[in-house]
Amino acid sequence: MDAADLDPSVWMKQGLLLLSRNTALRDVLEKAPVSRSVVKRFVAGDSTQQAVTVGGELEDSGRLATIDFLGEDTLDPTQATYTKDAYVDLLTALSDVGLTQGGKVEVSLKLSALGQALGADGEKIALENARTICQVAANAGTTVTLDMEDHTTTDSTLGILRELRQDWPWVGAVLQSYLYRTEQDCRDLAHEGSRVRLCKGTYKEPESVAYQDKAEVDKSYVRCLKILLAGRGYPMIATHDPRLVEIAGVLAAANGRGPESFEYQMLLGIRPDEQRRLAAQGDQVRVYVPYGDEWYGYLMRRMAERPANLLFFLRSVATKG
Ligand SMILES: Cc1cc2nc3c(=O)[nH]c(=O)nc-3n(C[C@H](O)[C@H](O)[C@H](O)COP(=O)(O)OP(=O)(O)OC[C@H]3O[C@@H](n4cnc5c(N)ncnc54)[C@H](O)[C@@H]3O)c2cc1C
Repeated sequence: MDAADLDPSVWMKQGLLLLSRNTALRDVLEKAPVSRSVVKRFVAGDSTQQAVTVGGELEDSGRLATIDFLGEDTLDPTQATYTKDAYVDLLTALSDVGLTQGGKVEVSLKLSALGQALGADGEKIALENARTICQVAANAGTTVTLDMEDHTTTDSTLGILRELRQDWPWVGAVLQSYLYRTEQDCRDLAHEGSRVRLCKGTYKEPESVAYQDKAEVDKSYVRCLKILLAGRGYPMIATHDPRLVEIAGVLAAANGRGPESFEYQMLLGIRPDEQRRLAAQGDQVRVYVPYGDEWYGYLMRRMAERPANLLFFLRSVATKG
């Protein structure tokens, strides 16, 4: 037994990550009216229009956005098509109000929501759905980033990324510093024109593939930052961690990078004051905006990351009840 086995915050995190995959609890909570008002802080709303509104508000405040239609692990081809259509509608609505111009608002996709896990043809289905979305994004003048999911999908997602980049070289990748493999993936992807979002990683991963110790994940994040910021691509630094934000700024300056050559990214509702501070000092800040009614897995992962988020949720439920 090591120290982590005795730490209640580690049990809580692992419990919440397990719950994030619990479909029975998901079905109950997603339909509970009280939940909807509580998730508002982290989720733009259910509808395309609400996502467009939040994108516009962020633009007014000098921030960029990447919008995610919530949903993952689709085991139903109709649902994968539904998700693809939701992105097409979203990009059309964003374009109609000028928000896609110059990539001010782009979209983030989870390939598992587009069919990646649908048996032998899953990758093909996800690729075709992603292609449709990339073409609509290209027509609208914006970009697409492929979210990264658990480690069993990393090779498949990077393979689909390579395919998409043949036609749309601006398609963005996400790498997770908790995986041992990620430093090498950063080296492979730090080339001209390559958009790479670096995050710590949010899934429960085994010791065989991922650092378990927070300090090790942070150290790996810094090593990856060094590779990406010294490289020729476009790093997207996705973290709320004040130390890592500061280190990124120092490394960017040391590599002679101006604010136009990289961006910070944070989640909707998390450290909004810091988002505004960075934007006010001239840095590019992009906010990840989830929307849609399938918010359960997303919100559970946010709570696993930070007990204060869980307390906020429970307090709101208690007040409403
Ligand atoms: C834009 C974006 C996109 C992402 N995409 C993916 C993805 O595709 N795949 C994936 O696996 N993960 C993704 N993530 C999630 C990511 O992997 C982490 O799980 C998540 O960002 C938490 O890690 P952190 O870097 O913020 O640091 P943490 O280790 O969670 O926190 C470090 C420090 O940040 C500060 N902090 C964190 N949260 C708060 C808060 N709520 N309020 C105040 N301070 C806070 C605190 O000082 C804390 O000590 C994404 C994250 C972002 C921001």
